[in-house]
Amino acid sequence: MLTIKQQLIPVNRFSRPGKKLVAKRGIVMHYTADPGASAQAIGNYFISLKNQKSGDSTTNRYASAHIQIDRTTIVQSLPFDEMGYHCGSKQPYLTEALAKLGSYPNNSTVGIEMCIETDGAIHEDTFNNAVDLVVYLIQHEGFPEVIFTHKGVVGWKDCPLPWVKNPSEFERFKQRVHSRLETRDSIGQDNLQDSITFEEEEHLNLSVNQWTILINQLKELYNKKLITDYTWIDKAVAKKLTASELLFINTVIINRGIK
Ligand SMILES: [Zn+2]
Repeated sequence: MLTIKQQLIPVNRFSRPGKKLVAKRGIVMHYTADPGASAQAIGNYFISLKNQKSGDSTTNRYASAHIQIDRTTIVQSLPFDEMGYHCGSKQPYLTEALAKLGSYPNNSTVGIEMCIETDGAIHEDTFNNAVDLVVYLIQHEGFPEVIFTHKGVVGWKDCPLPWVKNPSEFERFKQRVHSRLETRDSIGQDNLQDSITFEEEEHLNLSVNQWTILINQLKELYNKKLITDYTWIDKAVAKKLTASELLFINTVIINRGIK
């Protein structure tokens, strides 16, 4: 059971344009072309692209993918319903890609980067994690079972190189995804555990004394009507309040306090 670690790129013109996909028409497989680089490292790289300056001497690079996968980790860099820059824009697309994905495949597909080992190979664990992820995207995120390689979309780019060199590996990948989907269909989804889960957000790490203070503060705010939903206090009493929820409450309180 592998966890998707969400580490979204902040919206910026180079790696997260912030536009919704116009439709969910397919899944595009890539490789990182960076021997030994981890999923986390590639995710960090996509985030770093936001720091590029326009107008300086270096050429700006527009690039991102939704997901990076290595042997042990899946890192999500973009929401699955948003556009990334992973499969070209300046050159024409192949006929089959145009027919299935539309005239600009970036805005109708999810892009998946598979990491490679130091010898350039896609490790079998990485392959299996990619199968899990694609099955997940089809079953839970509304993508059809339409799987392309980057090469299959644009024609000119040898990506993922190990599958371009050995096309039977791409066929094996699609078959594995297909048989997993069929197994699920015949067994029924409720009988099988999802092989992908999202990393649960951590609850607040507070001492007993700090929880008591926080609960009392929240109750006072409730009495002053700066908080109107008592559920938050119940959650704090149960020590189930998360960092995001507390941040949300803080924002609401600040806003209501200054009115
Ligand atoms: Zn690619």
